[in-house]
Amino acid sequence: EKKDPQEKEYHNVVKEVLTSIVPVLEQHPEYKKHKILERMVEPERVVMFRVPWEDDKGEVQVNRGYRVQANSAVGTYKGGLRFHPSVTLSILKFLAFEQTFKNSLTGLPIGGAKGGSDFDPKGKSDNEVMRFCQSFMTELYRHIGSMVDTPAGDIGVGGREIGYLYGQYKRIVNSFDSAVLTGKGLGYGGSLARTEATGYGLLYFMKEMLEDNGQSLQGKTVVVSGSGNVATYAIEKAIEFGAKPVTCSDSNGYVYDPDGIDLALVKEIKQVRRGRIKEYVEKRPNAQYHEGCKGVWTVKCDIALPCATQSELDIDGVKALVANGVMAVGEGANMPTTLDATEYLLEKGVLFGPAKAANAGGVAVSALEMSQNSERLHWTFEEVDERLKGIMKNIYRNSKKNAEKYGQKGNLIAGANITAFLHVADTMIAQGIV
Ligand code: NDP
Repeated sequence: EKKDPQEKEYHNVVKEVLTSIVPVLEQHPEYKKHKILERMVEPERVVMFRVPWEDDKGEVQVNRGYRVQANSAVGTYKGGLRFHPSVTLSILKFLAFEQTFKNSLTGLPIGGAKGGSDFDPKGKSDNEVMRFCQSFMTELYRHIGSMVDTPAGDIGVGGREIGYLYGQYKRIVNSFDSAVLTGKGLGYGGSLARTEATGYGLLYFMKEMLEDNGQSLQGKTVVVSGSGNVATYAIEKAIEFGAKPVTCSDSNGYVYDPDGIDLALVKEIKQVRRGRIKEYVEKRPNAQYHEGCKGVWTVKCDIALPCATQSELDIDGVKALVANGVMAVGEGANMPTTLDATEYLLEKGVLFGPAKAANAGGVAVSALEMSQNSERLHWTFEEVDERLKGIMKNIYRNSKKNAEKYGQKGNLIAGANITAFLHVADTMIAQGIV
């Protein structure tokens, strides 16, 4: 906090993790001796760069690009690129730190990173987005590689952006090194089930958690926030598991559909038209649109799945959820629940699936995409999906086991942090002071 007082988001996440691993540090003095915490909170490398590009009017625009390479003890740096005006170094440092832990939980050989830009793809033409991506990659390419750092998509970076980024990378390095980026199109090295992986993985995790507690998804009312990649496929799998999602949102407002969300319509609005979620009510007369996305938590439900962005579920939100009898919350987005809100949910005995465990499905399938690229083979949807299920089950079980082992039974936040910390810390010690 003394070094970088302005990095509030980063301090919050570090505090959350450090608090939950105190029992581990007490039992294992070797981590203190090796200054593991001090080393973990200092990213291995941070790159910041200028991204100049020309808009359709011929005017020069300048954005800022970043790549935070947090930790490579377990494997190549890996984590998404986010294009959104809210992007700051503090947010990317927090996401990269979280990513290190999340990636370790998957059991696959991937370290932690995150990157992006304050560029806003909204309202830009395809050509503008392409020119921005090309300029961004013209600097980024020298810091990444399939054996170095393998970015993926995140908010504002979907298939279109990954395509432009990959095209420019390939052109500069003159190599079809496809494992360098994940979330690629199926025609050039993408994996089946990657698009669905985070949302599906979240539901596999929730199913495991609920069943372990004598509950099920069948017939449950689900409140989902967001209407992007994670939210869409969380809704899809929830419906498949017999639950009834009744909301979705964007940064302007939320939709409540008492008959259950019409997913085909959401896909049509968001994926085909790139429209706003309020257009949903034009075709669904029973549905209501409300301005202001945070109101979504006032809708009565059994299960809440925040799938939009960080800090979207605050203390007022969880109080409304608990007052309405929520039994489980699963984080599809990264750190969507504020610290005080999380504590409130745990106090009230609500089952809680923390982001780094519950939404690790996306990065897990990204790593499987890299495996397929290395093999120069494509696996079937079912093969990838089966592996995803297995990975999410293991994450739940390991988190539960380590929470119990270190005296925090039922606290999956602590369990996930401890599981990941032990893996990363032991690996760092094995590799010496680097
Ligand atoms: P998308 O860009 O596809 O969708 C983001 C959604 O969240 C949109 O509906 C967007 O609305 C909304 N949103 C964005 N910013 C805000 C805000 N400040 N307030 C309210 N709503 C907002 O992103 P993803 O679905 O891919 O990612 C969602 C979350 O999940 C992020 O936290 C991301 O880091 C995390 N995540 C994503 C993974 C993936 O595989 N995609 C993997 C793991 C985590 P609008 O259109 O108005 O901006």
